[in-house]
Amino acid sequence: MGQRAHTIAEVRIDPCILPKDDPEWKFALAANPNSEGWIVTLVTDAGDCGYGYASAMPHYGAPLEAVRANIEGFSRILVGADSAAIAAILQRLDQKVLGNNQAKAAIDCALHDLQARRFGVPLCDLFGGAVRTEFESLRILPIKTPADMAANARRLMNKGVRHFKIKVHGDVAEDVACVAAIREECGPDAGLTIDANQSYSPKDAIRAITEMAKFGIALAEQPVAAGDLRGLKLVTDSVPVVVEADEAADSLDQVFTLVQGRMVDAVSLKITKLGGLRNTIAAARICEAGGVRYRIGAHVGSRLLAANAVHMAATLPGIWYACELTEFDRLLDDPFEGLEVDNGMVRLPETPGCGVRPRPGSLGARAAE
Ligand SMILES: [Mg+2]
Repeated sequence: MGQRAHTIAEVRIDPCILPKDDPEWKFALAANPNSEGWIVTLVTDAGDCGYGYASAMPHYGAPLEAVRANIEGFSRILVGADSAAIAAILQRLDQKVLGNNQAKAAIDCALHDLQARRFGVPLCDLFGGAVRTEFESLRILPIKTPADMAANARRLMNKGVRHFKIKVHGDVAEDVACVAAIREECGPDAGLTIDANQSYSPKDAIRAITEMAKFGIALAEQPVAAGDLRGLKLVTDSVPVVVEADEAADSLDQVFTLVQGRMVDAVSLKITKLGGLRNTIAAARICEAGGVRYRIGAHVGSRLLAANAVHMAATLPGIWYACELTEFDRLLDDPFEGLEVDNGMVRLPETPGCGVRPRPGSLGARAAE
């Protein structure tokens, strides 16, 4: 293999603005009728391509235009580099800019996708191969009235979904009423979880989760402010439900802090907030070593992002509960194809790379609009 054939010749950045099928979709921190991000395409001088998705996440400090500016800044490191030298490239990105994990995640994914496509192997083979190939879908229920949320859950159950994450917003009585309504609609076998997106005080969280436990919830995600680690530990130690960190776990060192201090029972891992596949897998290993559970949190955006998450999940034996790998199913105009939900399940793609491909004409043309 000649070195020249591996050199990155071009970095393309396409906008990826996907309308939600429900324009009223909202959670405790924001409401946006679109899911927003960027598609990063790395092209070698041999014409090989690798694709990565950069998620705009204002609630993690990464608004849309800032993410693009970061990718553009990183492009100067990428062009001319050996695409096979993934660890060296990621080290240079970390040396250039602290944080900015959403932009780094897209580049990490694109480099690994490119490498796997060049080798002709599925992406997960770069990380030790698959220990599982099928995943049950957990779908998010956005904040609405209890009756509307129950109706949403029913609609998804009719499509084969058996696990739900109930978005709540910090009003104990209303939030408990939502959980009760959804449990009544879905029956005793549905898996229910809640995500407060930081909207409770620690004492309110304890009150709410203790009440919700009567209706059977499998986990409670990020009940209190991301920076309130003492409050998070207080909730964890006080309720009979698995407490999971999400916004509090948005870097590898924060995952380590949470695990070291046993501040939570579980951590929600996301490629986007943790800066790529390598970091996210490292975070999973930290959790395993420290006896803290982990699963894969919401990967909202193009199928491209979900495909990366599915490949990563396939290599992680310790995932303890249903993961959020199919939110793409509620987004329109996806520029990628090749990953679908079947009766509430998603399967590991078998084709080389991450297993999805751009729809003809979907990239490039958008950038020129
Ligand atoms: Mg969350």
